[in-house]
Amino acid sequence: MRKFNFSAGPAVLPLPVLEEVRDTLVDYRGNGLSLLECSHRSKMYEDVHNETISLFQELLGLPESHKVIFLGGGATLQFSMVPMNFLTPGKACDMVVSGAWAKKALSDAKKIGDVKVVFDGAETKYTTLPKSDTIYNPDAAYVHITSNETIGGLQWKTFPDTGDVPLIADMSSDIMSTPLPVEKFSMIYAGAQKNLGPSGVAVAVIHEKLLERCPKSLTAYLNYGIHSEKNSLYNTPPVFSIYIMMLVLRWVKAQGGVAKMSELSSQKAGAIYREIDSSGGFYSCPVEKESRSVMNVIFRLPSEELDKKFLKEAEALDMIGLKGYRDVGGCRASLYNAMPLEGALTLAGFMKDFAAANG
Ligand SMILES: *Cc1c(COP(=O)(O)O)cnc(C)c1O
Repeated sequence: MRKFNFSAGPAVLPLPVLEEVRDTLVDYRGNGLSLLECSHRSKMYEDVHNETISLFQELLGLPESHKVIFLGGGATLQFSMVPMNFLTPGKACDMVVSGAWAKKALSDAKKIGDVKVVFDGAETKYTTLPKSDTIYNPDAAYVHITSNETIGGLQWKTFPDTGDVPLIADMSSDIMSTPLPVEKFSMIYAGAQKNLGPSGVAVAVIHEKLLERCPKSLTAYLNYGIHSEKNSLYNTPPVFSIYIMMLVLRWVKAQGGVAKMSELSSQKAGAIYREIDSSGGFYSCPVEKESRSVMNVIFRLPSEELDKKFLKEAEALDMIGLKGYRDVGGCRASLYNAMPLEGALTLAGFMKDFAAANG
């Protein structure tokens, strides 16, 4: 029996994807070898590589101008590569510090160049996002945001208009969960292991105009321009992770695409937030209502003892991965695309029962 896995990442994958991986593992489509064993320059892999890129373009509705690149090093390496490639000397970048992941991006960018923090959520303990009157610097090299704070449970619902200044977003934990105004972004990046597939690959979508900035002085792997020019085959890409990502993207498409994922996300998150809000204060969510994430729902109970009891009983009912991030405590339900609606409804039902028995 499969458990409901609410883990923040690596996270739940669609069951049909896992089954197809199993069925194709040893002999890939009658080729007499595994995809794990084949050259990344072979036709067998090339088809996987190119289909994954086209599915990406199709599902996100990317214009021709936006190049799709696969990279190793996770989203974390992008915290360095973004400023190395795009933080033009003599300019500063604007950064929105919305929580734990944005702080990590900030810390790396500062080591590479000049940074201006245009919003810092510290005053509200990272429970709020910038309002529409936030001022972005018209001369900035770029603006960097984190579309969904996986640990804090905050998610941007509308994106700032930064004019000619490129907008760059870390979308690791909500990419493909909602239709995007992609033309607003010069770059989007994401580690795969939340909403796209297994760990081992990160995806970057970069506007060709921004790619012109990549400095020639960078070493090869660190230069986005080289990855783009070589169609992400400058070196050996994470072949098997990309294969599983392709299967996940096919699955998203078959379910009805990103619009359908968005509808389901609202239903899943809605069911959990409803339990929180109707519990008379038994459950609480610190995040301002308009910024509540539909991907990572954060809540706590009246005491740490009750948090523990809740997690233990949930686990006995085969709901796992609900423990909040180590520094944050409480509970967190991650509701990525592959989490079935039934999982969220089961959790909501348990929350109701638990509050009635312990409130
Ligand atoms: C998980 C996560 C990261 C880090 O991803 P890695 O692939 O582990 O480097 C960065 N940003 C956000 C928003 C995340 O959720």
